Amino acid sequence: MQLSIDDVISKAIDAASHDLRKLSLAIHDNPELALNEFHACKILTDYLKTKGFKVEHNIAGLPTAFVATYTSSVGASGGLQVGFCSEYDALPGLGHACGHNLIAISGVAMFLAIAAVLDKCQIPGTVKLFGTPAEENFGGKVIMQKAGVFDGSDVLMIMHPTLGYSGTWHSQCCQKMVVEYFGKASHSASAPWDGINAGTAANIAILTMGATREQLNPDWHANSIISTGGQAANIVPDYSRIECIIRVSWAKDLKVLEKRTLNIFESAALATGCTHKVTTEFAYLDNQDNPVLGKMYEDIMWDKYKVPPTFGQGASTDFGNLSQSFISLHGNYDLAGTGAPNHTIRFAHDARTEKAHENTLFAAKTTARVAARCLVDGEFWNQVKSAHENRRKD
Ligand SMILES: [Zn+2]
Ligand SMILES: [Zn+2]
Repeated sequence: MQLSIDDVISKAIDAASHDLRKLSLAIHDNPELALNEFHACKILTDYLKTKGFKVEHNIAGLPTAFVATYTSSVGASGGLQVGFCSEYDALPGLGHACGHNLIAISGVAMFLAIAAVLDKCQIPGTVKLFGTPAEENFGGKVIMQKAGVFDGSDVLMIMHPTLGYSGTWHSQCCQKMVVEYFGKASHSASAPWDGINAGTAANIAILTMGATREQLNPDWHANSIISTGGQAANIVPDYSRIECIIRVSWAKDLKVLEKRTLNIFESAALATGCTHKVTTEFAYLDNQDNPVLGKMYEDIMWDKYKVPPTFGQGASTDFGNLSQSFISLHGNYDLAGTGAPNHTIRFAHDARTEKAHENTLFAAKTTARVAARCLVDGEFWNQVKSAHENRRKD
């Protein structure tokens, strides 16, 4: 009896379920922050190596990034290169409250499924699993993209647990900036006129951002904290530091809000006589899924859950930068049906449950089915490509 492609995908993922559960729990129980995911990287790559896959380490200068590759036994020529992403960083103080332990294993599951499809169905092509660190901070994918790690990919896919499901999620652009003010210390009471107050510069910047917020578009955000305001009340502060994250819905608006914010930073320096320095730590662009891939993903989810897709706003991902260049799918799925939002203790708890594991594997099978269709259905692949071209023209 010949197995269908869907059967090959299901069998490959079900056969790995026990191992994937162990990996997921081991990552969940050892939460590691961005760029320090050494344990997660080791156990994921050890597992892939025991299954016979080629794994490269230290990608783009990131010690916790990796790439696993499998080429079909009938070769790569004439086929596509399909890439999946795993994430495995945790949140400070909250552990795996974004469920990246599940994103880690969903990447492995989809990679195993498509390797099995290439092999058992004798389809030419290559599948890659990109181990992408530091999604919650620094943007591992952005660093890897700049180094050309994803070059040659025909399509890139990732999954994310959240509330509800969607295959056509439009995330927000997000940019983190740090501004430092440099002044001159002096005694606050005996010679304040000799000082240049960097703490006042930080306060003026924060107040001006608040005062001008009314004129921002409703979907624009500029959120800031003063992370250093001074050392002691009897010294005029000679140094202050603000951390600021700006968000907009569309990449074209990012420069506009950035310019407004830079003007505010500069005006506070001018008003106080300080000098200042702005450092951009990372910029995530908006995620735009391929609508043809997204529709197929959502149709399968609809068949199972019988509820319409949900499209949350206000979040950002470094996968968005990949979606700007590559044909892509960011498959969101419901974590465990409890209604817990991302970045909460409850979400971290739910990300360890059997139900979350079950939902993750179903979503991984769904995404793998979409990927497999790209490999075998030329007409479908042409529709995917023309949807991508149309968006680039917009
Ligand atoms: Zn998150
Ligand atoms: Zn996340």
